[in-house]
Amino acid sequence: MEYFNCFSGSYTCARAKFLKAAAVAKGDVRSFIHPDKKTPDGEPLAIDVACFGDRKAGRQALFISGTHGQEGFSGSAVQIGWMIDGGPAKLPADMGVVLVHGLNPYGFAHFTRTTENNVDLNRNFIDRTTGAAPANPHYETLHDTLKIQHWTDAENARVDAAMGKFTEAHGRDALFDTLARGQYLHPDGLMYGGKDREWSNKTLETIVKETLVGADKVAFIDWHTGIGDYGKPFFLCFNEAGSPLFAKACDWWGKDNVDGVRPHGMERPNYTGLVFHGVQRLLGNRQMCGAVIEFGTRGIGMRRVLRLDQWLRRQSGLDPDMRAGLQADMMDAFCPFDGQWRKDTLDSGLKLTDQALAGLAAW
Ligand SMILES: [Zn+2]
Repeated sequence: MEYFNCFSGSYTCARAKFLKAAAVAKGDVRSFIHPDKKTPDGEPLAIDVACFGDRKAGRQALFISGTHGQEGFSGSAVQIGWMIDGGPAKLPADMGVVLVHGLNPYGFAHFTRTTENNVDLNRNFIDRTTGAAPANPHYETLHDTLKIQHWTDAENARVDAAMGKFTEAHGRDALFDTLARGQYLHPDGLMYGGKDREWSNKTLETIVKETLVGADKVAFIDWHTGIGDYGKPFFLCFNEAGSPLFAKACDWWGKDNVDGVRPHGMERPNYTGLVFHGVQRLLGNRQMCGAVIEFGTRGIGMRRVLRLDQWLRRQSGLDPDMRAGLQADMMDAFCPFDGQWRKDTLDSGLKLTDQALAGLAAW
């Protein structure tokens, strides 16, 4: 599998490659066009869904790319690679696979992690029927300080110092939790979970209802990048620790990989509003096993990149050359241009896909 046949340089290219591979593999394709947003070149934005195998089978796999926009280049490559590599033809008779490409197409196309409303889609799936959105009191004390005003070394140093001061008082685990868990009050802040359900969130509900209607056992992977060692997979399994489903994820991918792993060497944040939990809620009593799978890039250095992403979102009259340079830096952080990284993550993504499918077949 040549990695450069699977990775793309733009959302529009990724989408075209995905649709072509799905057609060649005789997938059942449906596209959900964004009602009012386009790519920077005015092309349509869509969540594309390709289904393979037995669509009515009780065992279904749901593999998602692009929840975090620009992180989608990597997950897209794995989905495309699986189709090119003959994955659909190898499926057992009583199983189906649902590939969801570009869940946050706006972010994917506009080279940012968040949606058209600066919402972190992977914090947007809180249960809004049960009262107020989760609080993040520490974030309230940090929001103004963390907001970078100019992209200069001095401003970055000021924000780093503020985070250092917080760490001295509360510890690095608390800082990570505060920055990453999600917050629901500052639309211009980090990990903003949104005031309401995003278009992508509602569309995923339609997709789940239409494609997983007969499923009672679901294998789930949401592909991301940023956490973990460079070029290596990192697992965030959100099945309840110690439960039989958690044990199943350990069986599929290895207990050492799934159990007790610490993102960036810290305690895992108390994430709220995850896609994983949103899909689980839609499935009700039906069982789902799986994980967010990340591919490592710059480790804790991603904090600076997330800050840059937020800053770039707020700049309108920026010098085009400066914007292009900073966006290339971001692209290299979310999906390194390094051919070895791309080859390694594609190979390992295909292996992890096969392991999940073998596990689902034996479930
Ligand atoms: Zn992510």
